[in-house]
Amino acid sequence: MSFHLIAGDTPNIWLGKFNIFPEDMFIHGISTRHGGFSHSSYSSLNLGLHVEDDAEHVVNNRIEFCRNLGVDYKALVTCQQVHSANVAKVTRADKGKGLENYEEAIANTDALITNEANIPLMLFFADCTPIIMADPVHKAVGVAHGGWKGTVKSIAVKTIEMMGQEYGTRPEDVLAGIGPAIGPCCYQVGEEVAQQFRDSFPEFADEIIEPASEKGKSYLNLWQANARQLLAAGVLKEHIEVAGVCTACHNQQFFSYRADGGRTGRIGALICLK
Ligand SMILES: [Zn+2]
Repeated sequence: MSFHLIAGDTPNIWLGKFNIFPEDMFIHGISTRHGGFSHSSYSSLNLGLHVEDDAEHVVNNRIEFCRNLGVDYKALVTCQQVHSANVAKVTRADKGKGLENYEEAIANTDALITNEANIPLMLFFADCTPIIMADPVHKAVGVAHGGWKGTVKSIAVKTIEMMGQEYGTRPEDVLAGIGPAIGPCCYQVGEEVAQQFRDSFPEFADEIIEPASEKGKSYLNLWQANARQLLAAGVLKEHIEVAGVCTACHNQQFFSYRADGGRTGRIGALICLK
């Protein structure tokens, strides 16, 4: 069984699960758009505070999602994602950052890591690629935001490198889940984006960029780009699980920036060391 959704306790709340992360050591989950309090474009489990949704609804959505996963909502740590390759080390002093107020989230950061237990790390997505990582040997976790900009800057690899510096994580011990994100079926990009990927990853450019029928356009495969970067960094093939779920094709289930025309909510990708 590959990436799958399991029913939460709350009606219509679903928990997206990889098989790669041992449940006795890590709690992880990816949300869907169902089972929350938000209305209209954000209907209904929008977890992002920065998208002009009613903050009270977002907070209630976060509380419900955390409760269904069995993590302490009050300890949640989030960041202000800016399509950078910046990774922040999280400690218990950061608990609750960005919980109910976006301004208090960790600034200028697109990946979070920790080796402390019971601190759920959560990032937000609508088409960009969630990459969840865990090191069962050194007991550390990380989560990264891989849009095209973060992916071209190798955000997932930067995350495991920082886990190495801070916690002694070795790439061969890393377990990685690449979550639902816009797929190569739908993610059309212009020539300047395609060229950045060709320049940065000549060794696998052919696998991640397909010419589109429209002149000057290509389809970009962010799932595979992130997986190939992790492999090149020494993560084992059998330790990488790719959901392979396109958020635009499955817009009924997940928020999609492109399929929803820009105004939409955010799913969350969360991991917590037990
Ligand atoms: Zn698609």
